[in-house]
Amino acid sequence: MGQLPQWSPLHQLVSRVVLSPSLSAAAAEDDAGPLPGDVAGPLDLLVVQATPFCNLDCDYCYLPDRRDRRRLEPALLDPILDTVLSSPFVAGDFTLLWHAGEPLMAPPAFYDEASHRIAAALARHGRGDLRIQQAIQTNAMVIDDRWCDCFARNAIQVGVSVDGPAFLHDAHRRTRTGLGSHAATMRGIAQLRRHGLPFQAITVLTAASLDHADALFDFYLEHDIRDVGFNMEETEGANTLSSLDRPELEGRWRAFLERFWQLCAQHPGALRLREFETLCGQVAGGARVDHTDMNRPFVILSVDVEGRFSTFDPELLGVRTERYGDFLLGQVGRDSLVEAMATPAFQRIAADMAAGVEMCRQSCEHFALCGGGAGSNKYWESGTLACGETQACRWRVKVVADVVLSGLERSLGLAEAPLPSRP
Ligand code: SF4
Repeated sequence: MGQLPQWSPLHQLVSRVVLSPSLSAAAAEDDAGPLPGDVAGPLDLLVVQATPFCNLDCDYCYLPDRRDRRRLEPALLDPILDTVLSSPFVAGDFTLLWHAGEPLMAPPAFYDEASHRIAAALARHGRGDLRIQQAIQTNAMVIDDRWCDCFARNAIQVGVSVDGPAFLHDAHRRTRTGLGSHAATMRGIAQLRRHGLPFQAITVLTAASLDHADALFDFYLEHDIRDVGFNMEETEGANTLSSLDRPELEGRWRAFLERFWQLCAQHPGALRLREFETLCGQVAGGARVDHTDMNRPFVILSVDVEGRFSTFDPELLGVRTERYGDFLLGQVGRDSLVEAMATPAFQRIAADMAAGVEMCRQSCEHFALCGGGAGSNKYWESGTLACGETQACRWRVKVVADVVLSGLERSLGLAEAPLPSRP
């Protein structure tokens, strides 16, 4: 499957109401307390698991059930959408991301029917003013003319998981029989291009990638890949060991990013790297954030193949833990989102999440850029959501901020620090 995309709309950082630590008052819908919509939402992203199954077996994948061939019953989309649209958390357009498995393991007809059910649900709820944008994150291996027609017909946005040139990609993104998947992914990308369908690429960086900034940059330009986001290989879920779990690699990550900054500066407009674009946008706009969409409830709603739902970080959906259970909060068709906020499971998760954000706010000079991080990183690194800094945030936020801010200073002539040169 693909890696979860982290650019707009999923990870765009926007200023919203400060996360309230008193969520239980909202859950009770007490007239004297805040309303649910004051402390949760608005919904930006609905993640739906079309199937847990994946045709790949990437060695860094966090999903435990990727051999599970169940598929979402299309009719289950009705109660999913009814649950969302009858909640107080829909304030405007949102994205429905088909994820948590390889979405193209369901056939094109599945997405045609989904589009019909989405239109019918909007009509049923009198929400013709709303747009639900469908999106997928895929390994692209099975994309052909039929799929391209389906994407165009249903206006589905496409994200492709590709880890760069074959020697990097095939080291980790393999089939269950050990075959590399690069050639098939590149065929899928060629199909998208032939049909004039834009896409964004997600590249998972492992320890091996850190020595190859030039090879990655050249690969993107050679294949006309213009929108890229980097995800770090992380210790989470089924991936119990990351090649990046070594503190001494932080210097190589910094050098990699500095080199990438230099290459982007040398080729203006050639490549939009999510990590640079997001931070430059924040700096230029003077934006300060006080939470992320992954630590405020019901900005994201994740629904599994059986219609069970969760909120906060989609990567926590169905993960079985001692401290938080399986993060599942209810079942569509039976439980409303507001009712879910009153459950002991939600309140424990939300209280720890809020405590972790507060620790970040009190201790981290990057808080205004970050908003308190992602629960999945906190849980997998520390066993609790009630904590602050993680290795993931040091790499994804702090080092990136250092590189971007010093790069901007250099571009303004405020600093003269040398950058590494091309080997
Ligand atoms: S400690 Fe990490 S997660 Fe917390 S605000 Fe700072 S950068 Fe973000």
